[in-house]
Amino acid sequence: MSLMPGRPGRTAALLVPAVAAAHIGPAATWLPGVRLLLCPRLAGVGPPRHIALTFDDGPDPASTPRFLDTLDELGVRATFFVLGEHVVRHPALVRETARRGHELAVHGWTHDRPWRPAPARDAEQVARTVRALRDVCGHRPLWYRPPYGILTSGRWLAARRAGLRPVLWSAWGKDWTAEATPASVRARVAADLRGGGTVLLHDSDRLAAPGCWRATLGALPGLIRDCREAGLTLGPLREHGPPPQGYRHGPTPCP
Ligand SMILES: [Zn+2]
Repeated sequence: MSLMPGRPGRTAALLVPAVAAAHIGPAATWLPGVRLLLCPRLAGVGPPRHIALTFDDGPDPASTPRFLDTLDELGVRATFFVLGEHVVRHPALVRETARRGHELAVHGWTHDRPWRPAPARDAEQVARTVRALRDVCGHRPLWYRPPYGILTSGRWLAARRAGLRPVLWSAWGKDWTAEATPASVRARVAADLRGGGTVLLHDSDRLAAPGCWRATLGALPGLIRDCREAGLTLGPLREHGPPPQGYRHGPTPCP
């Protein structure tokens, strides 16, 4: 029997990049062009006359109530992708968000960057956030959007095991920067938004420049007017539906 020194080392050397690729490969969908091309449902593409309005990173008692009031004034309902660790700290705010007709969805338990594979931790954290939302609101969430939009294979599996559909976005306001203004957020969304799109905004500055949520809030009236003047209806993802039959942005149907 010949032992071949070095073979285990070579195998390991091949295995490590393979595991890393399997872990991070799906995160290529972070690139808007990639997901629009390959997976329109992951990009949140829905019926052509509807826009899904979504907010990430709450609930935040410093800012989320202002969004709820403004959305009431504008007559719009949205989907809020929340962090479980803040759901359990601010359950009354989460209940109030649901009471006002908005949809709650899962952003994660914490807001981590998933550079190392941790599928068991991913599964536990997503399931824990689903349980927290169910305990606070009394119903199961439907959607999952990973922190930073980085959809690793572990996060994808965690979402599917928890019965959630992963969804990212097709337009964003770049509203997390210190330079963001209501005009810049509105213009940035308008640059990428098409009928059937999903808009990503943030109702908290916890993970962004202090106070940047004010730019987002200030952008909402104009942004919503833009959509309505274009004949588009806004609402939460639960009202968004799938892309129209025959929708073709690319060759691969979305899972
Ligand atoms: Zn986030």
